[in-house]
Amino acid sequence: MADKNAKRADDSEPELILSRAEAGILEAMGMLPKNYGAAKNVDADADTDADSPALAKDAAIYIAGHRGMVGSAIVRRLQSLGYANLITRERKQLDLCDAAGARKFFRANTVDYVVLAAAKVGGIRANNAYPAEFIHQNLMLAANVIHEAWQAGVTRLLFLGSSCIYPRAAAQPIAESELLRGALEPTCEPYAVAKIAGIKLCESYNRQYGASFRSVMPTNLYGPGDNFHLDDGHVIPALIHRFLTAKESGKPQVRVWGSGDAKRDFLHVDDLADACIHVMQLSDDAYAACTSPQQSHLNIGSGAEVTVAACAELIRDATGYTGDIVFDSDQPDGAPRKLLDTSIFDNLGWRARIKLADGIAETCRWFQEHRADARA
Ligand code: NDP
Repeated sequence: MADKNAKRADDSEPELILSRAEAGILEAMGMLPKNYGAAKNVDADADTDADSPALAKDAAIYIAGHRGMVGSAIVRRLQSLGYANLITRERKQLDLCDAAGARKFFRANTVDYVVLAAAKVGGIRANNAYPAEFIHQNLMLAANVIHEAWQAGVTRLLFLGSSCIYPRAAAQPIAESELLRGALEPTCEPYAVAKIAGIKLCESYNRQYGASFRSVMPTNLYGPGDNFHLDDGHVIPALIHRFLTAKESGKPQVRVWGSGDAKRDFLHVDDLADACIHVMQLSDDAYAACTSPQQSHLNIGSGAEVTVAACAELIRDATGYTGDIVFDSDQPDGAPRKLLDTSIFDNLGWRARIKLADGIAETCRWFQEHRADARA
């Protein structure tokens, strides 16, 4: 990455120009007066010009959770855009819940940008069965990565949250401002609290140290690399697996949990990856203009709703299953509607591109090709 202090063209004695993160660190160490960063010599976008992309092609980008559905999609998208200096570590090499390990990693490696897509993720059943693991691991992981990224002077960080941060009874479509306005859905409350803590960690480092740590809240995701477990997977991958199994065994009916009437907003993970890079590319001024210091997260969704019944039919068509779909109304529907208000992100000029039917067909093909090693 270019040395930002080499930007000067005149012959005068080079003046040290600091990024906000660097100024924040020096302030915290007592080497600069408090709020020096807000006053002088700090280029809020030291790594970028307003007219050019923020992420230089040779920037060192650490993608935490690169083997997961989201992390692997972000790696694919960055590679397709020509980013070659990507840093990844498997969990067995670097457990991000371990503070000492995280510190050692950030001290030993030069990291310009971080995408925090590592998390303990699971469906309702797993969240209910292991609430302590969900809150503990997600809190530790977020705190360690965000703190060590700040210590290391990382230029920009993107934290992946989830739409479960919003109150159970939030007004639909759910705007970013609904955060902390009511009680959470009890089944995923520990996970949601850890995700809210992640957002607040980012905001606090921004406010105290002038860091540029951002958060996105994606809607329901699906795509290659998803968890296709028949019971524990989310609705699209679990149904793909169920319909394919029923087709192979000649089963006349496939049971779908709930009435089928619940409406959901599904986004292909490749669209999410594109959206995440769009957020990372925004200059600090552009990000600040559409957020506020204590409401800094951005919703990301497809902007469209579909019933679970309509989604099940798309999956049946994609798998080539010809039997019947039976809705099991004894099973809970969950929230009748869960649609994110994406108007802030829409105004930044980003749109989802992958149509649900195309995305389901592609995910179905991916699962068939990777059946031996897919999570199921
Ligand atoms: P995955 O389960 O597919 O991937 C999570 C990744 O995190 C895995 O690679 C896992 O590594 C890694 N990981 C977990 N714990 C640790 C740890 N202690 N140290 C290092 N790595 C760790 O999840 P997704 O890709 O689906 O989710 C990523 C993010 O996106 C999460 O923050 C989630 O909240 C968010 N999100 C996901 C949605 C979805 O529908 N899937 C919807 C909305 C948001 P390993 O494989 O080795 O265990």
